[in-house]
Amino acid sequence: MPQTSYPIVWDLETFFKGGSDSKELRQHLDEVKDRLRTYSAKLNQFETPTSSSEADDIASLIEEGSNVSQHIRQAGAFITCLEAQDMTDHKASTLRSEVMELNATYGAAFNRFKQKLAQTEASVWQELLKHEQLADLSFVLNEWREAAQEQLSEDEESLITALSVDGYHAWGQMYNTIVGEMTVNVTVDGKEKELSVGQANNLLSHEDPNVRKQVYEKLEAAWKEKESLFANTLNHLAGFRLNVYDKRGWDNVLKEPLDINRMQQETLDAMWGAITKHKQPFVDFLYRKASLLGKEKLDWYDLGAPTQENTQTLSYDEGAQFILKHFKQFSPKLADFAEHAFENGWIEAEDRSGKRPGGFCTGFPLSEESRIFMTYSGSMSNVATLAHELGHAFHTHALKPVHPLNRRYAMNVAETASTFAEMIVADASVKEAESDQDKIALLEDKLQRSVTFFMNIHSRFLFETRFYAERKNGFVPAERLNELTDQAQREAYQDAVQSTSPSYWSNKLHFHITGVPFYNFPYTFGYLFSLSIYARALEEGVSYEDKYMALLQDTARMSVEDLAMKHLGEDITKEAFWEKGIELCKRDVEEYLDLTSK
Ligand SMILES: [Zn+2]
Repeated sequence: MPQTSYPIVWDLETFFKGGSDSKELRQHLDEVKDRLRTYSAKLNQFETPTSSSEADDIASLIEEGSNVSQHIRQAGAFITCLEAQDMTDHKASTLRSEVMELNATYGAAFNRFKQKLAQTEASVWQELLKHEQLADLSFVLNEWREAAQEQLSEDEESLITALSVDGYHAWGQMYNTIVGEMTVNVTVDGKEKELSVGQANNLLSHEDPNVRKQVYEKLEAAWKEKESLFANTLNHLAGFRLNVYDKRGWDNVLKEPLDINRMQQETLDAMWGAITKHKQPFVDFLYRKASLLGKEKLDWYDLGAPTQENTQTLSYDEGAQFILKHFKQFSPKLADFAEHAFENGWIEAEDRSGKRPGGFCTGFPLSEESRIFMTYSGSMSNVATLAHELGHAFHTHALKPVHPLNRRYAMNVAETASTFAEMIVADASVKEAESDQDKIALLEDKLQRSVTFFMNIHSRFLFETRFYAERKNGFVPAERLNELTDQAQREAYQDAVQSTSPSYWSNKLHFHITGVPFYNFPYTFGYLFSLSIYARALEEGVSYEDKYMALLQDTARMSVEDLAMKHLGEDITKEAFWEKGIELCKRDVEEYLDLTSK
C-alpha cells in the first residue's frame, strides 16, 4: 500500500488569500455590497405579477438572488472557518457582523419579493409555473405561496416581525445573558473550581460518580435559584408565539414546526408511536448499565457516564484509511469523494490550543467545495465524528446538480448523510474492536445515542407539548414546570431512572431558541430516517449508491412523505417504517447485554 500522509490543517487560501486581513475578501465584500444594493432596489420595485408574460423576469430575479446569496455565503463560510481555527481572531468577528448585515438586508428584500409573488392570482400562478425554470422550482414556490396565504396581511406580518425583535427574540437573548453570568463552584481532584454551566455540564460524563453527583446537585441548585427568571423568559416567548398563532387562526402548536420540516402530523405520531412501543430493550440497557455501575437504577447524572473506557487509538492517517476502507464497501463514490477531501486540504483536524471546540462542515457555494472542522486526538469517537462531517460534505456534493433553491433542506433530513456515514464507521469499529472491553465501550457509545433520541428527546417533546397546552390558559409557574419536566422524563425513560432533572426546562437551551420552534423531534426523525436508509444499504450493498444519491438530491424539493415513498417505497405515516430503524438499534442492545453478562 502506498504511504500517504494527508494534510491535517485545512487550506483556506484557495478561497481568499491572507486570512482575516485578506484584500481579496475585502474586495469580494465590497462588490457584494454594491450588487446587493442594486438587487434590493430591483426587488423593492417588484409588484405582484398580473400575467404569465412576467415569468422570464421572475426567473431572472430568482437567479440573480441565488447568485448574490451564494456570494454572501461564500464570505460567511470563510469567516466561520477563520473564527473556528483561532478564537482570538477579532478581525474575523468584525467581518462576521458585516456579513450578518448583508444577510439581513438580503433577507428583508427577498421576503418582500416572496410576499408579492405569493399574492399572484391562482390562474396566473399556474401559468407561471409552466415556465421551464420556474417549473423546476415549483415545490419551493408553492411552499412560499401556501405560507403567505396562511399568514396575516403583509402589513400585519411585517409589524409582527418588527415587534418580535424586542418582544420575542429578546426573551431568548435575555435567557442567554442570564445563563452566561451563571457559575457553579465544584471540587474536582481536591481543587475547588468556579465553572460556567457549560463547563459544569461536561463534567456530568466524568468517570468518578462522586464528581458527577456533586456537579449534578450544584447545577440543579444553581438553576433552582434562578427559576423564577427562567419561568418568565420561557412563558413570555411561548406566549408571544401562541399569540401570533392565534391571530393567524392556527390552533395546533405543532403546525409551524411540522411545516418547517415538510412533514405531516401522522408521520410524527407514527414515529413516536413506534418508539413508545419498542422502548423495552433500551430500558434493559439502562438497567444493565446501572448494574455495571453497582446500582439498581441509574441516576440522571449517570446517563452520560461510560462504564468502560475505549483504549483504542488511531493516528490521523490510520483514521482516514479506516474511513476510506469502510466507505468503499457501501459506496465507492462516497469513498472517492472523501479521499479527495483528505488529499486536498478540506479538513482542519489538528489538535492544538486556540481552536473552537466541536465539529462542523461548511460549504463554499461558489467554489463547490466544503471545509470540515474538528479536533482529532485519535479516539474512535474522533474517527466517527470525521466520518459524520464527511457525510455532510457529501450531501452538499450530491446536491451540486440541482438549483440552489432546491438545496435548502430542513433540519429533519439535514443529518441523513452524516448519520449514514457515521453509522458505517461506528458499526465497523465495533466489528473490528480488538478486545471485548473496547467493543463494550463502542456499543455503549452507540446505545447512548439511541437513548438520547428515543428517551431524552422524547421527554423534551412530551414536556414541550404539555407546557404549550397549559400556557394557552395562562402563565405556568416554575413549580409546575418542574413537575411537568419530572413527569415527562419518568415517562420517556419508562421509570428506568432513579432521579430526574426537574430543572431541565430551564437548563436546556433548545426550549429558549426563538429562531426555530420545537427544536427536538427533528433530531429523532433524522436519526431513524437515516438508519432505515442504512438498513437498506446493508441489504443492497454497493448497488444502492446511485439510489442513495438520488434520494439526497431530492431532500429539499419534496415533503418527507414523498421523499420516502419515491426513494424507499415506504409509507412513513405508518409505524412499520419506523420500527425498521429501531430494530437495528435493538441488535446493539442484544450484543451489549450478551457481552456484559460474562
Ligand atoms: Zn451533523
